[in-house]
Amino acid sequence: MLIDAFARKITYLRISVTDRCNERCAYCLPKDGVSWMDEKELMSPDEIVRLAEAAIGLGITKVRLTGGEPLVRPDILEIISRIAIIPGLKDLSLTTNGMLLKKMAKSLVEAGLHRVNISLDTLDPEKYRKVTRLGNFEQTWQGILEAEKAGLHPIKINTVVVGGFNDNEIIPIAKLSLDHPWHIRFIELMPVANQEDWGAGLPPVEERYFSSQRMHELLSSLNLEEVPSPDYSGPERTYRIPDGVGTVGFISPLGDHFCMKCNRLRLTADGCLKSCLLVDKEISIRDALRSGADLTSFLINAVANKPIGHELSSHNCPDSRCMSQIGG
Ligand code: SAM
Repeated sequence: MLIDAFARKITYLRISVTDRCNERCAYCLPKDGVSWMDEKELMSPDEIVRLAEAAIGLGITKVRLTGGEPLVRPDILEIISRIAIIPGLKDLSLTTNGMLLKKMAKSLVEAGLHRVNISLDTLDPEKYRKVTRLGNFEQTWQGILEAEKAGLHPIKINTVVVGGFNDNEIIPIAKLSLDHPWHIRFIELMPVANQEDWGAGLPPVEERYFSSQRMHELLSSLNLEEVPSPDYSGPERTYRIPDGVGTVGFISPLGDHFCMKCNRLRLTADGCLKSCLLVDKEISIRDALRSGADLTSFLINAVANKPIGHELSSHNCPDSRCMSQIGG
């Protein structure tokens, strides 16, 4: 069992399988000139699987594949099928922008994936294009429907709320949970800004941050009822619109941060262990992975050094990597 210095049990591993993405979300990646990691820097399927086996052997029960966009990795089905059969794993999920889901949902299920989280910030095709720069709303929407049909349940929809951009869509997006058994989660924008044009095209910095408390207030006309979270150890607070078949949740990394409940460890696409998304500190394990060395001590060490929490409230923001490299 992996237990950190603050008695938190670490049971959840998030693996970024690539930093590449087929979108360029304004709060995540620069618009032009992104320098992707060299192919040789990325973890191979063997290396990813070896790390997952070591982590699951130490008590990790939940693994999520993320990125970048995990579905652009050509060998993603191989990675999934090999992780899915590791004894001790209870939950295997993937975070995606949904652009490739229509064509891949069925194969993902066949490979052994349990479920997906899909990012969807707006229901307006023009705004979708504006925030993702390369995305297509209809393609993602069809992907969500296909994931539902293929059985990647429960489907979670992640909506990053940006003040002055999509705060006026909180009600229609929440209402998707009336007819669909989806978990809609509204997420506060995080200042992970290691690029100069962070947020270019979005409203000015002072308007962008929109607290989950304000989101909740905006939804007051829907009479949300608090319900148990679909994932008891998860970070969100969960509600239901009366008679809705899905749920509505709020993830507040800034307003009401959940660090004392954090059970996560991360592997970056180039093989570094990070025990906190929002702190730059990391341990490179790529050489150990490549030399076949035992990974146990690296995992124990990363967990032992997990910080008590991030320091965004004292304006201590991570600046060594963008989200797509860490795996948001
Ligand atoms: N490409 C996949 C996707 O779009 O879901 C997975 C990677 S993406 C980095 C994972 C999640 O991080 C997405 O839901 C995205 O909206 C979120 N994200 C990226 N930058 C963020 C930021 N600055 N603040 C809050 N969420 C962010």
